Amino acid sequence: MKRNEVDRSKLSPMMRHYVELKDKHEDTIILYRLGDFYEMFFEDAEVVAHALELTLTGKSAGLEERVPMCGIPHHASEVYIDKLIKKGFKVAICEQLEDPKTAKGIVKRDIVEVISSGTITNSNSLNEKENNYIGNLYDFEYGFVLTYCDITTGEIYAEVLERNIDDIVYKILSLEIKELVISSNADKILISKIKSAKVPITYSDEILNNEYESIYNKVKDTRIVTSIKLLLYYLSVTQKRNLSHFQEVIIKKRESYLEMDIHTKRNLELTECLRTKERTYSLLWLLDNTKTAMGSRKLKNYIENPLIDINKINARYNIVEKLLEDFITADELRDNLYEVYDLERLCGRISFGSANAKDLLQLKASLKVLPSIKEKLEKIKFYKNINTLDNLYNLLEKSIYEEPPNSLKEGFLIKEGYSNELDELKTLSKGGKDFISSFETLERERTGIKNLKVGFNKVFGYYIEVSKGNLSLITEDMGYIRKQTLANCERFITPLLKEKEDLILSAEDKIINLEYSLFTEIRDKCKEYIKELQRISKVISEIDVLESFAFVSEKYNYTRPNITSTNEIKITSSRHPVVEKVLKSGEYVPNDIIMDKNTDILLITGPNMAGKSTYMRQLGIISIMAQIGCFVPAKEATLPIFDKIFTRIGASDDLVSGESTFMVEMMEASRAIRFATPNSLILFDELGRGTATFDGMSLAEAILEYVANKIKCKTLFSTHYHELTDMEKTLPNLKNKHVSAVEENGVLTFLHKVKDGSVDKSYGINVAKLAGLPDEVIERASAILKVYENNEKKKDTIIQTSLPLNFEEKKSIAEEEIKKIDILNITPIEAINILSKLKEKVK
Ligand code: ADP
Repeated sequence: MKRNEVDRSKLSPMMRHYVELKDKHEDTIILYRLGDFYEMFFEDAEVVAHALELTLTGKSAGLEERVPMCGIPHHASEVYIDKLIKKGFKVAICEQLEDPKTAKGIVKRDIVEVISSGTITNSNSLNEKENNYIGNLYDFEYGFVLTYCDITTGEIYAEVLERNIDDIVYKILSLEIKELVISSNADKILISKIKSAKVPITYSDEILNNEYESIYNKVKDTRIVTSIKLLLYYLSVTQKRNLSHFQEVIIKKRESYLEMDIHTKRNLELTECLRTKERTYSLLWLLDNTKTAMGSRKLKNYIENPLIDINKINARYNIVEKLLEDFITADELRDNLYEVYDLERLCGRISFGSANAKDLLQLKASLKVLPSIKEKLEKIKFYKNINTLDNLYNLLEKSIYEEPPNSLKEGFLIKEGYSNELDELKTLSKGGKDFISSFETLERERTGIKNLKVGFNKVFGYYIEVSKGNLSLITEDMGYIRKQTLANCERFITPLLKEKEDLILSAEDKIINLEYSLFTEIRDKCKEYIKELQRISKVISEIDVLESFAFVSEKYNYTRPNITSTNEIKITSSRHPVVEKVLKSGEYVPNDIIMDKNTDILLITGPNMAGKSTYMRQLGIISIMAQIGCFVPAKEATLPIFDKIFTRIGASDDLVSGESTFMVEMMEASRAIRFATPNSLILFDELGRGTATFDGMSLAEAILEYVANKIKCKTLFSTHYHELTDMEKTLPNLKNKHVSAVEENGVLTFLHKVKDGSVDKSYGINVAKLAGLPDEVIERASAILKVYENNEKKKDTIIQTSLPLNFEEKKSIAEEEIKKIDILNITPIEAINILSKLKEKVK
């Protein structure tokens, strides 16, 4: 049954309200609150029942047939909502806005929140180590503004991008933006590419004026302001909650950071492993010894945005060095950081009004260590003053009860001594409860029934329970009123018991309400400190990252890089940090990477599995580590600052376009060649192998010549085309290197040592043998190879001997010979000999 095909005039008032609401939220699954359930109807019910494997039922709604319906229990809704969001749905929560018991007519309901992948705030479904971004892409004809924010932390960034569709899509993927708000008239090709990259899109054209101006009031570029306002509008209508924790926008300028696209990020396995797409075995995994979730997120941010300002980089090294020198302070600081909770997200929850008492206790625990952190930061000269917010700490210390429940409607939120009114109510309630326990003793004595019990349940309140055998002891004058008969006992009440019960229950109600309102007052008070808390979070996350750098540098014996402006690389005994960590200790073979200012290209040959890609990645990763302010895995490291890194390593990752591997390979190469500057780094691994040998070789040679003569930037280029090694003779800035392997009795051993010069054997068959191909295949391949090699030699000789030269060619050879004759220094006999040879040549 389709919603738009039914006769709406026949629908029940509630269902009519539902369909009207759904008309306004076509792209959203509406969870419609009915009592203890969230129900879905019509197509939503069918889709969700299928997606979550729920039972599809029906609801009578005035039509002949029942309307398709499925539901989820209200108390377990979070789990289901998470599943729906993970499956790419957008969910709108429609709540009852009045108590059904007291409502007149149909219960008032409305959408209170729209949840989508970019706007989840529930901490169970968020990864605490990652930001969750929602973005807006604003098309201003000559280009785009990309604004993106994390609503849980209030961070917001904006960037102006050129009108290059592929670059924009890659940027969105690289930032891992979970949802994109875009104008309905935006470029169609762009939209289709974003869709094929599986980023959820929402169309929205409205802007939010005059609210949250502190986010953008210092921004002059009106295009950026428009994009921010477009995003804010969407957030304000879907979130329907306060966004005052949003921070001032950070405008990201391309030229302020080392530029690398998503291919480089993936190829170098900076934040996830290429094969598994998991964090494990990435650089982030290796470096992450942060103690706070904020630090972990900041580290990811550092890795994705390496610096290019030498002073900023050195400032980070200085702190890492200080932490290594003063290791006792570093250790204590690490312990302090361990005590700090996710202040950024706590600020978000405080601002949304969703923080509970446990959240405020986390805030308190974090504030408690601030004085100690502050003292240590001063010691290591990390000059970022932090305010320890003693007043806020004191407020929380004296007000919030230490073991509160998750809910705010059960009491147990506020400590004794904080509010007189609350304490009085508690005394009253306690008095009532004390009365009840003494009442039981008194009644036992009065009736002579030893096992008489006073109990409580939600339906009857307090009651007196007497077992069947003792009923005869109850006499009329005792004032017992029969309330309930059970199998082996009877339950009674007395007027006195009920009187006390009223007192206790009304006091308890009052206590719960009062605790709730005191709690929200305290939470609102916390809101006033949000800006300061966000500043503290920033300092803490930065020092946490630098602590992590120090820890890893000490543990794996890294060294402080020396950044120069002389365009030379001198890294001795360097290692690939992740491969080194994964291998057994001592197994990794360190290598030097030396490129003086006159060397731009290292052409690396060597068999498969020898370690060529690892060597190339090693340079990429060491450069990135150096530019994020971390020490590097080497004995000594002198490096320039790179402005961009381009890579073509490993299997090509076709992310959106559906192009062939070779096409993607060439697109990546083309980007590098077009955009690299003399200060860039290019890493090309076996470029050209995706096509026929001669094509690939010619392309590789042409590209190498171009880099050597035109771009002149530092480049590592690995290849199986041994013919290319001849280029060393003609290109002074290219040097041959090879990764050695030794073959003994047909057994190949990799030494992983990078040496000068080239090798002329590929050992392909040996590697295949190592990989376990059957002997029969290996022997056959060796035989075929011999035939090819012999044919190749034969062909060479045939070409050399059989091709006749034409007369012009012969003449030019003769001319060259004549030019070489030194007439004043030859004897007549020599002259006759030369003449005779020349005559032979032009015959
Ligand atoms: P290639 O690119 O030459 O085919 P790789 O760089 O992929 O080779 O290296 C193959 C394997 O050799 C890697 O998985 C790694 O385990 C090992 N390896 C590479 N370099 C080294 C090294 N310097 N020391 C020890 N093992 C290494």
